[in-house]
Amino acid sequence: MEKHLIIFTDSGDTIIDEGTEVRDERGIVVHAELIPGAGETLRALCDAGYRIAMVADGEEQSFTNVYNENGLGDCFRTRTISEIVGIQKPSERMFQDAMDQNGLAEADKCRIIMVGNNLRKDIAGANRFGITSVLLDWSPRYDMVPRCGEERPDYTIHEPAGLLELAERLERRLKSGPLSSERK
Ligand SMILES: [Mg+2]
Repeated sequence: MEKHLIIFTDSGDTIIDEGTEVRDERGIVVHAELIPGAGETLRALCDAGYRIAMVADGEEQSFTNVYNENGLGDCFRTRTISEIVGIQKPSERMFQDAMDQNGLAEADKCRIIMVGNNLRKDIAGANRFGITSVLLDWSPRYDMVPRCGEERPDYTIHEPAGLLELAERLERRLKSGPLSSERK
C-alpha cells in the first residue's frame, strides 16, 4: 500500500557519490558509484510503498547512465531533470515539475519532503517552495553550514540509512496532522 509521505530526492552526493563520477568529453557522467547504503535505502523505501521522485540538476543522459549501471532506475516514479526543465534548483519550477508529474496539488505539500545535500539548491529551494527539507550532510564537498534561515533544513540526517528511520517517523506523524519542523 502506498504511503502518505512523498519523497522528492536529489541525486548527486545524496544517492550518487560525486567523488566517483567519470565524465566523457561532453561532460556526461558515464560511471559513478552509490554512496554506501544509499542503494539499500532507496530500494527499501520503494519496497515499503513510498513514492519517490527525482529532482536533480544535470543532463538526462548522465542520470540514465548512472541508474542503469547501479540498477535503481525503477525506484523513481518520476524524474525531474534540470536539462529538461530548462532551469536548475533552487528554482521553484523544478519542484513544481515534480508536483505536476505526480499529479500533486498545493494541499499535498504538507506531506512532501525534499532530500538533498545542497543548502542553497535543495534546502532553500524546498523551504521557499513550502515543502519539508531534509539535509543529508554526508558529502565532504559541500558547505553544510546554513548562511541564512532559508538554508536551514527542517531535518538533518548523516547517512542515507537515516532516511528510512526519518520517513517512518514522519509517516506516523502525518497520520495526526501536517509535518511540523524541527528547524529552530
Ligand atoms: Mg546534490
